[in-house]
This record gives sequence, structure tokens and C-alpha cells, in this order.
Amino acid sequence: MKLRILRLGLSAFTVLFAMVACGQNEDTLKVDKVSTFTNIEVMTDSNNWNELTPEEARVIVNKGTEMSWVGEYVDNHEDGTYICRRCNAPLFNSDAKFDSRSGWPAFDDCVEGAVTEVLDADGYRTEIVCSNCKGHLGHVFKGEHFTDKNTRHCVNSISMKFIAEEE
Ligand SMILES: [Zn+2]
Repeated sequence: MKLRILRLGLSAFTVLFAMVACGQNEDTLKVDKVSTFTNIEVMTDSNNWNELTPEEARVIVNKGTEMSWVGEYVDNHEDGTYICRRCNAPLFNSDAKFDSRSGWPAFDDCVEGAVTEVLDADGYRTEIVCSNCKGHLGHVFKGEHFTDKNTRHCVNSISMKFIAEEE
């Protein structure tokens, strides 16, 4: 019972302070400049960010949503790391990917500190953005019982780039 109260307290805390990075408080967030996951440089300076196509910008900058089932990573089952399309920050590992049958890539965990949760403009969903460049990724849903972690990061393929693990 005590544990349950504690859990309720924690979720209230999460709602109150909507700017919470996945697994980490934003205040303590530090993105490694060179990712240990991919050896690809994470660009902290906005002048160096990757140029976006109009469709990428529609989703990443203007918080749009890719149509379901059309994204290039919906059915990707390869081992590797998904990085931010705009700034190269590693966001999700393929180990956390699962089939949610929703039409968008789903992950039950993220790279520590890489994803920041924000109350969506719609007032009820939780938006997720790249902690480094604040680019729009998608939304996070909790309590759906898809996996033991009970969390679904529902992410637009177009917000990410997949880097296959080297053999
Ligand atoms: Zn980014």
C-alpha cells in the first residue's frame, strides 16, 4: 500500500513538472558531444544541425505527425541505434523497440537523458522532444502494458536516422 502511494506521488510529480527527461532530470542533462553509441558527432550548435527537407521540418520543427504505417522504421528489426535526424543525438536503442501495431515505431525505453517529456499543446498528451535540439519526436504513453516497462515512446520515423550496429 505504501509503495502504491509512493507511485501515485511520483506520477503527480511528473504531471506537475512536465519537463522531465527520460530517466533523468533536465537540470542534470548532459549530452556527450561524441556519442559513445555511434561515434557520430552530436551537434550542440544549431548552426551545424543537419539541413531538413520540408517534410522533415514539418514534423521536427512544426510538431507534425507522419502518417501511420508509411515511416521507414515501422518494421525495422535490425540491431542498432536511432539518432536524432537534426542533431545526431542517440535517442533509442533497437533493444527497446517493440511492435505496438500502431503504425509508428515504438520503444519502451530511451537513451538516458536523450528524450525530454513536455505537456503537449493539446493539454493531455505528453510530447517527446530531443533533449539536445528540442526537435519533435512524437508522444509517450504510459500504462498500456505492452511491455514490462509499461511505456511506449511513439516516434515518427522521419524524426530519426537509424545507424545499424557494426558487425
Ligand atoms: Zn536532436
